[in-house]
Amino acid sequence: MTEAEPTSPVLPERPRMDADIVCVGFGPATAGFLTTLSKQLTNADGTPAVESAVMPGLPPQVLCYERADDIGFGVSGVVTRARALRESFPEIETAGIPMATPVTGEKVLYLLDPVGASRRSMMLRLADEAIRAFKFALPVENDALNLPWTPDFLHKHGGMVLSMGQFIQWAGAQVQSTGTVQIWPGTPVAEVLLDDVAAGVRRRSPESLPQDRLLTSAATRTKVLGVRLLDQGVTKLGVPADGFAPGMDIHAALTVVADGPIGPIGRQLDEHFGLPPEHHTRDWAVGMKFVVDLPEDTPLKPGTVLHTFGYPEPEIFGFLYVHPDRVASLGIFVPSWFDSPVRTTYRYLQHWMLHPYLWRYLKGGKLRSWGAKTLGESGRRGEPHLVGDGYARIGEGSGSTNVLTGSGVDEAWAAGAQLAEAVLELLKAKKPFTKENLEATYVQRRRASWVEAEARVAEKSRDGFQRGFVTGMIGMALAGLSGGRLALPGKPLRPWERVPSLEDYFRGRIPRDEVRKIRDDCYTRGVSAHAALMERAGWPAIPYDGQLLVSHQDALLLGGKVQAPPGYADHVAFIFPNQCQRCGTKLCVEVCSGQAITPGENGVPNFDREKCVHCGACLWNCISASPENPERMAVAFRAGTGGLHSAEN
Ligand SMILES: Cc1cc2nc3c(=O)[nH]c(=O)nc-3n(C[C@H](O)[C@H](O)[C@H](O)COP(=O)(O)OP(=O)(O)OC[C@H]3O[C@@H](n4cnc5c(N)ncnc54)[C@H](O)[C@@H]3O)c2cc1C
Ligand code: SF4
Ligand code: SF4
Repeated sequence: MTEAEPTSPVLPERPRMDADIVCVGFGPATAGFLTTLSKQLTNADGTPAVESAVMPGLPPQVLCYERADDIGFGVSGVVTRARALRESFPEIETAGIPMATPVTGEKVLYLLDPVGASRRSMMLRLADEAIRAFKFALPVENDALNLPWTPDFLHKHGGMVLSMGQFIQWAGAQVQSTGTVQIWPGTPVAEVLLDDVAAGVRRRSPESLPQDRLLTSAATRTKVLGVRLLDQGVTKLGVPADGFAPGMDIHAALTVVADGPIGPIGRQLDEHFGLPPEHHTRDWAVGMKFVVDLPEDTPLKPGTVLHTFGYPEPEIFGFLYVHPDRVASLGIFVPSWFDSPVRTTYRYLQHWMLHPYLWRYLKGGKLRSWGAKTLGESGRRGEPHLVGDGYARIGEGSGSTNVLTGSGVDEAWAAGAQLAEAVLELLKAKKPFTKENLEATYVQRRRASWVEAEARVAEKSRDGFQRGFVTGMIGMALAGLSGGRLALPGKPLRPWERVPSLEDYFRGRIPRDEVRKIRDDCYTRGVSAHAALMERAGWPAIPYDGQLLVSHQDALLLGGKVQAPPGYADHVAFIFPNQCQRCGTKLCVEVCSGQAITPGENGVPNFDREKCVHCGACLWNCISASPENPERMAVAFRAGTGGLHSAEN
């Protein structure tokens, strides 16, 4: 008897299902889409108002797949004018949505530096001196200047403070109660199906998993056919293992892409179809948020809204919103134009909370849960092709977020509702979801709406920040007050064009050799270097209290603890390892919101899926360009499961 030839394992066939509409992600954009759509798919007597193409006699079959393990786990956003939300839910204020309350008061505060460690330009230092010298005549309190006037474009008066997680859970329940839509959480979409992918003409993409994720040549790919769900039962590298279950292919006449600013499906379409001329997605921010129990004697009233700027670094904006029952949502945004190689959101958030103006409200408080998420800050300039044959894009990934007013929820919801009206119009007219038909219905509605008008005003408002904080503030004020007619210019750069080395960044504060030694010591121990470098540069150590000020590691175990189901591939991967080996400024390690990326032994970072909070910051905080696309970096951020388990964020 001869020895048996080794054979390749027989892999199960990829299952297929047909639907009428499939949605990617359930954030505010899809919630707006499905809320409007689901109410009009059936008549009052329960008969279909329009008929399904895949199940004749029934209403259209609408499916929605959400990456996070439950509805409301993958979202953020807390204060909103709620114009679009009110159109969908006129009774929103009395609907009993947990943690919701009307806005009762707003303040914009310029925070002075109470510790002397922040990086301030000469102009800003002079302004700080002047504020301190004249504080007897100015509204200055606890090292903060309360701006006497909130510009109209920032006002949220008449709006609502919400927990987006709670609101989205509530909206999801309303949608599902119509019985016309199914929402599947814990089910990431791996990729869109393009027409000739189905025909088998394929090419490897640099972000591809070993066994598939193959793209076709650009010339022939025109139509989106649906989506492919993520494979289960694979190794960290995506290779089929015991219990392999290939992700299902869902074919649908319309794919609604609403996977947010760092969604892999939106990025797949961007890479495939390109962006319109002059458009780019180079402006981002990491937003990190704590949900906190305020002390029992807090003077802060529900509905209080505070916006801050100036500290811990001038470029870092902060917010504090008060919910009912002494609960507050608070946090900061660390933007891409903050040219620092130690952009650590977690550490900066702790320094921000310790500012005397805020700490008097927070001392004695307790951390309930936290989260981090990328905010796409390119706004309308990041708008992709909104529609194509078989697909439409809504929400932040479609460029709807307004970068002047700092508002994304209402705009995402409005875009979703506009698409729903367009879809109903096409279904009733029995017209197919072609690019032309979607242009004439959805895109036209969007262009005629307040979302577009306000996005135009905001379009250039942040360009000044590319040249510094003061020019940024002036540019924003000019754009806001002139209705977008005036702005200060500035060219958005990519991280590899703008982030200085650690040695250059700390020049004048820490000798170069010492910077290198601190970094090397930290990396040898497998930890990030920002804490040691910041403390050497004058930032005080954080006085942990075990309640609100806890170590990053402890935060990962607190309410909303990170979980990652087994059997999935790593969704973060270092796709050009030789570039990582040469990289002295491991920005991905320093910025990681969950300490999931740590220095690796051979210079290539390690990734621990069980700590990843899916903020997406690593995607755009790499300082090495992909050799294949200068707009992309040496790190891949793919569809993945898990993350933080809290619907309060
Ligand atoms: C810290 C922070 C605070 C904010 N505060 C405010 C605020 O006060 N007011 C305001 O108006 N806006 C705020 N925003 C912005 C606001 O959160 C966004 O503009 C808004 O959530 C965008 O909605 P969306 O539906 O387009 O995308 P998202 O909210 O990002 O939702 C996308 C959904 O898609 C899911 N998804 C991603 N990939 C996949 C996949 N492969 N398969 C399936 N599902 C997937 C995600 O899990 C997520 O649930 C804030 C943002 C941050 C980060
Ligand atoms: S992913 Fe980018 S930032 Fe991180 S080590 Fe590699 S090259 Fe450097
Ligand atoms: S590894 Fe996860 S937690 Fe870390 S930056 Fe990337 S997405 Fe965020």
